Amino acid sequence: MKFADLHLHTQFSDGTFTPEELVSHAQKHGLACIALTDHDTVEGCARAAAACAAARMEFISGTELTAEHADTEVHILAYFVDTQNQALLTRIAGFQTVRQNRIREMVAALNRLGIPLKAETVFALANCKSPGRPHVARALVKERLIGNLDEAFEKYLKKGRPAWVPKTKMSALEAVELIHQAGGLAVMAHPGLNRTDEIIPHLVAAGLDGIECFHTKHSTVMAERYLEFAEKYQLLVTGGSDCHGFSKKAPLIGTVKLPYEHVQKLKTARNAADMKRALAK
Ligand code: AMP
Ligand code: ZN
Ligand code: FE
Ligand code: FE
Repeated sequence: MKFADLHLHTQFSDGTFTPEELVSHAQKHGLACIALTDHDTVEGCARAAAACAAARMEFISGTELTAEHADTEVHILAYFVDTQNQALLTRIAGFQTVRQNRIREMVAALNRLGIPLKAETVFALANCKSPGRPHVARALVKERLIGNLDEAFEKYLKKGRPAWVPKTKMSALEAVELIHQAGGLAVMAHPGLNRTDEIIPHLVAAGLDGIECFHTKHSTVMAERYLEFAEKYQLLVTGGSDCHGFSKKAPLIGTVKLPYEHVQKLKTARNAADMKRALAK
């Protein structure tokens, strides 16, 4: 049987692997297909695609957009997007700036708490356009200003903690629209993490294509719950490990294996959407 992992991060956002390292891990786990879904960027897709082609592995270009609906953060995964699409690139560039400014604000908050971290240290470590809280946490550990990453989140960076800074986000409805106009499919990420099931019908009304039923942080009960949502709303089913590379534990890639039949259904839906767009022209 063939399997896929459709939720993966690299150094182009807050993962620790290069695209090539990610593909080599995917190969080791015998995956037939992977999708790269870095936060608010598609920059790593070209290198991941090339590495997959060399490894004879199927690749799907993607991203994970940070969005919100009714004041709740919701992540929208994009699959098969055109990574050169101007509207998509312009919009996500804006959110990359938001992320960079937020790093400065988080560092300033830490400085006010007497923690001598420099924004430059975080940027140098992140070395990407889409930095996030994990980079601040890693910089704090690197500078020996905290014991470990968990502690950094618990003490400073988690929502409500003193160095947490809210992030301006696009609306989930806009995210769906942005993904569609870039030729992609829009999928609600890890619904079990936010427990915001009441927003699912609103996203469906906006044209949501799928829902991530299988995820590292979903229990079997949760996966079944979201498979029922998928059935009820005629949504595609996706899944992935949400691997961020090395942390304390072994990388998560390989822990969630999506049966390939779901990839086949995604491709059929993508082709149908392409056809519809072509006919509408
Ligand atoms: P950001 O996009 O900057 O808000 O950062 C979100 C990322 O931080 C998520 O994708 C996770 O990888 C990571 N994260 C969030 N909460 C925690 C936590 N409590 N411990 C470790 N990592 C976390
Ligand atoms: Zn992340
Ligand atoms: Fe996410
Ligand atoms: Fe993710």
